[in-house]
Amino acid sequence: MNLLLEAKSLLSERKNFLSSKVIDFKKNFNRSPKLVVVLVGSDPASVIYTSKKGAEAQAIGLEHETIQFEASTPPEVVREKILELNANPNVDGILIQRPLPTTYDLKEIIYWVDPSKDVDCFHPENVGKLYLGLEGLKPCTPFGVMELLKFYKISLEKKLACVIGRSDIVGKPMSALLLQANATVIQAHSKTKNLNELTKQSDILIVAAGKPGLIDHSYVKPGCIIVDVGIHRNSKNKVVGDVDFDSVQKEVQAITPVPGGVGPMTISVLIENTIKAAITRSTNKF
Ligand code: NAD
Repeated sequence: MNLLLEAKSLLSERKNFLSSKVIDFKKNFNRSPKLVVVLVGSDPASVIYTSKKGAEAQAIGLEHETIQFEASTPPEVVREKILELNANPNVDGILIQRPLPTTYDLKEIIYWVDPSKDVDCFHPENVGKLYLGLEGLKPCTPFGVMELLKFYKISLEKKLACVIGRSDIVGKPMSALLLQANATVIQAHSKTKNLNELTKQSDILIVAAGKPGLIDHSYVKPGCIIVDVGIHRNSKNKVVGDVDFDSVQKEVQAITPVPGGVGPMTISVLIENTIKAAITRSTNKF
């Protein structure tokens, strides 16, 4: 491996840039941009992610609130709260933490948050803008991956990129962004046959399957670049990704670490989206 694609240096640049945007916003509007995270239930991983988002928002100068409901709360009650937040001019970004209890219909929830405050980029209006290449709020994890690749000057044009996973939150928007950057994209998923025949041809692998250690050296083309989106805790309580790092590291040109790669980029883009939503709603410029 020649290069470890760590987020640290890029995050410190982004932190300075985003903090200065917050200071300007405060000067102009006499308040800080505000992010509200809505959490239903107390899934342990969600509780940790929610508090990380809050801590990072505060570190950059944003106002932040987490609203927590019992897992048994009926969807109508949560929806009412979100409609109230949509109408509140001092709330700029609203995020509904996933996973939600199974009584919630994900196909309905994507319409709840006002598109101008939809900092997770789930509303069909924002998803449509993304696919059409129009300006708008960005899908946090895929855009974080693109920023990381740009920071390390990894060109995508004419490359064959394989995205493993087709979720609405990572895999699908990831492919859209890679396509816009002129990569040729293979979208693999759980029903894909002979996955390693596709990955072994690919210059870039973006792995978001949610399966710890799925990708080992037998899946990679020598000299390829790997972005590992997966996050898991193994039996030794260590945080690991979807890629078996030790197995592939000799083969690859570059790889993201887990932790310290894609995860913190996701939160940084969430903060950027909140600031962007605040500025756009107030001035139409970012
Ligand atoms: P998901 O479960 O919604 O989707 C997983 C996708 O992987 C599915 O489309 C499925 O078809 C595909 N898949 C599953 N097994 C496969 C296999 N054996 N071969 C090929 N494809 C397979 O998961 P998600 O929400 O997209 O998240 C994926 C991973 O990324 C998880 O580990 C999650 O924790 C992590 N994640 C990390 C961040 C971050 O900030 N780093 C953000 C979101 C998700």
